[in-house]
Formats: sequence, structure tokens, C-alpha cells
Amino acid sequence: MLNSSLKQMAAALRANEISSVELTGLYLERIAAHNPSYNAYITVNPEMSLQQARLADEMLARGQAQPLTGIPIGQKDIFCAKGWRTTCGSKMLADFIAPYDAHVIEQFNAAGAINLGKTNMDEFAMGSSNETSYFGPVKNPWDQTRVPGGSSGGAASAVAARLCAAATGTDTGGSIRQPAALCGITGIKPTYGTVSRYGMIAFASSLDQAGPMARSAEDCALLLNAMTGFDERDSTSLQREKEDYVRDLDLPLKGLRIGLPREFFAEGLSPDVAARVEDALSEYRRLGAVTVDISLPNSKLAVPVYYVLAPAEASSNLSRYDGVRYGYRAPEYADITEMYEKSRSQGFGNEVKRRIMIGTYVLSHGYYDAYYLQAQKIRRLIAQDFAEAFKQCDVIMGPTSPSTAFRLGEKGDDPVQMYLSDIYTIAVNLAGLPGMSIPCGFGDNGMPVGMQIIGDYFSEARMLNAAHQYQLATDWHSRSPV
Ligand code: GLN
Repeated sequence: MLNSSLKQMAAALRANEISSVELTGLYLERIAAHNPSYNAYITVNPEMSLQQARLADEMLARGQAQPLTGIPIGQKDIFCAKGWRTTCGSKMLADFIAPYDAHVIEQFNAAGAINLGKTNMDEFAMGSSNETSYFGPVKNPWDQTRVPGGSSGGAASAVAARLCAAATGTDTGGSIRQPAALCGITGIKPTYGTVSRYGMIAFASSLDQAGPMARSAEDCALLLNAMTGFDERDSTSLQREKEDYVRDLDLPLKGLRIGLPREFFAEGLSPDVAARVEDALSEYRRLGAVTVDISLPNSKLAVPVYYVLAPAEASSNLSRYDGVRYGYRAPEYADITEMYEKSRSQGFGNEVKRRIMIGTYVLSHGYYDAYYLQAQKIRRLIAQDFAEAFKQCDVIMGPTSPSTAFRLGEKGDDPVQMYLSDIYTIAVNLAGLPGMSIPCGFGDNGMPVGMQIIGDYFSEARMLNAAHQYQLATDWHSRSPV
């Protein structure tokens, strides 16, 4: 059952071969046995999960099952879930019990899915290795001395280690795709505005987007069907007709034009990653696709632009954690100013503080025009590069990450090296485009390699089709570390 697809699990539940209570119990047992080594979950609440499973079993018995009814999902601890501790990986929210559900959680609840627990993450989703979590680092199940990627590292580790059937993640600069690549799973960040951000703790609101992380593109398509939809409580939620992301999975790839940005295959890319991506591209050609060389000339500016804009938005979003309304409050202080100071300096970790300081700086009088405004202009140029590229191709492919999973502690002291882990993913968020990562082999150290697929706005069904056809022809996605 642990290696079954979501479609197979749903069929088994419907055929009464297993109940949701049994399936949920199976995963809860695995979590109890293995989470102490992986640290993929911050919070599990077997009672609440099993209560949902009982309701799902009733839905199944009444013949009211939807595709995800009864299926246990790991929820990134960035999503508020009513009655659940929701920490965002921070001491600031270590004791916060969410009083309401995020839109994503509501959607999964309505689908009859089970919240299996809250997965570990970098503090406030800032990081690429899951080492900034207040609740400790997450281990990569392929090699526990290595990072799972971040910030959705708990989700990636849990999916790879079979500690959930599938999971949710969020991606502000690569946090679904990069950990998916490093853990050998599949993940998709949809077009900005497709999934509501309501109840998803804000990092950089113009970039944040939720999406599924699972073992295959087909599973991701099913999850995306449940996650998307207009929500008036998010002012950037898009009002569009509901799509079925499964609809195009079986289309042949003949004639698909794959753009290869020369900037993604240049210096800085590990040779083993480059070789695996080339192998995957050969497979695509065999499946009838053609490749075209393209250029994204401004993509080299994506990392510096992101590290102006994302901290700017974060410094504003995180100003709400003042020790007054909710979250951590310092135990001792002389007056209100000292209460703010101490609460924030004790409640936030170093990476979060670094971002707040950068953000406050670039937004301050005298620097706003030089940094923030300039970065906004380059952001537009980056988006225009993609628009030009999509005149020549249907999808863009390349590596997800410049290297395979690095060792825990390896980049901890060097923020710039850490930031460069997202060199191929960040431009996609700046442009608001959809992007995904699929496993395409293993590097010299035996760690998984991910290939990135980038699509034009709202082309998720086509990207999932491209990924699914590759997964029908190869078995990298079904390799398991456990
Ligand atoms: N690694 C990037 C950062 O630290 C992206 C994180 C994310 O996508 N949430 O900001």
C-alpha cells in the first residue's frame, strides 16, 4: 500500500480492501517509528487524524467518496488548521493553536482527505536546507547526513520516506521544487494566484504559492484538483473556471517544443546533474519532443532581485509578530518598547532576523529607489524574458538545483552559497509562472537529481502531461530510499 499511487489507494478504499482508519493508522505507526530519525513532522495528533479518518470512512460507506477521500496528507506547518498547533517552524509560533482553517486545509477537508500532521519547514519558509527550523533540521531519507532541501523539507522527506501518501508545500523562491529534487519526489508550484493564500502564513506575499508534493505527476494532478479554486479572502486569488489537471495526462508528447535556456546549463552546474538532465532530455526526444535553444538573459539577476524583494515583503509581513496579539512574548520587560524588542529578538531565529534587517534597509528612505524600485523593474524584465521564450517553445526544461543534496551544516555559515541553491527556481516565482520538479536519476553521490519543467501561465495540465509521459517511460519516480 505504501508504494501505491493515490489512484490505487482511492480504489482500495472504495473497494473496502482497507479503511481510511487502517490506512491512517499505518502511516501514524510509521511516523511513530521513523520520525525520530527524520524529524519530518513538527506535530502529529493521532486523535484528530483518526477522527477525520472515521468521517472519511462514513463518506466512503455512503458512496460519497471523492478522489482523495480517506487519503492521509502531510500538511506543511505554514497552513493554519483549526485546533492544530501551527508553528511555521518558529519559536514565535511554537504554542500557537490556529483558530481557523487555511483555504487549502478547507479544500482538503471538503475532499475528505486526512490531515496526518504538520510537516517541518525552515523558519517562516526562509531557507533551502530545512536547517533554520526552530524544531531542528530534517534529514534526507536517502542519506541522513544530508539535507532534504527547503523550505518544504519536512514534506519532501515525509513523502520520500513513505511517512504520508502525499503532502503540501509552499514555494516562494523554490521551496517546493528544490526539496522535491533533493529527495527524489515530484512537486509543482502552480501559477501565482491559482491556490488561495488565505490562512497560509505569509512570507513574501507577491511570490508565495502553495502546491502539491507527491511521488508522481499523476498524484500531483489529483492533489492540485483539490487545492485550486477562487477564494475571495485572498485578494490575489484568480477567478477562473475550475480546471481538471488530470485531463491531459495521457496525451502523446509528439511535437512538444522544449526550450533549453543556455543560462541554466552554464558554469555552476554540477557535471553529474547536467548529465542526468541531458539523459532525461534524450528520453523526451525519444518520446517525440523537440528541443530548442533559448535564452533568459536577465535570469542571472533573479537571485539578487529576489533577495531585495522577498526580504522587503517579509519585513512588512513579519511586523505583526510583536508579542502583543499572539505568538511569543518575552517573559520579562520594563516597558512596551522593551517588550517588542525582547519578544522579537528571542522569538525569531537568525535567518529571519537577517531578512527583516535587509528588508527594512531596502525599504527605508533614501534606499527605496536604489534597491526596492530597481528590483521591481528588473522583475518585470525577467518576466518579459519568459514571455519571449514562450514564443519559441511550449515548456522550458533544465536542472532544478545546481547540485544534489549537500551535507547538513555544509552551507550554514554562508548565506550566499545557500541562496544560490535556488538559482534556477527563483526567476519562476518572480514571473509568477508555474514550475515543477521531477526525479530524473541519481548523482555521483547516489543522491536524487531533479529536472525542472517551467510552463507558461496556466499551463499546469500540459506540464503535468509532460511529466507523466516521462514517468510512464522511466522509473526514477518510483525508486524508494526505504
Ligand atoms: N530558499 C529561498 C529562501 O530562502 C526560497 C524559500 C521559499 O521558496 N519559501 O527564501
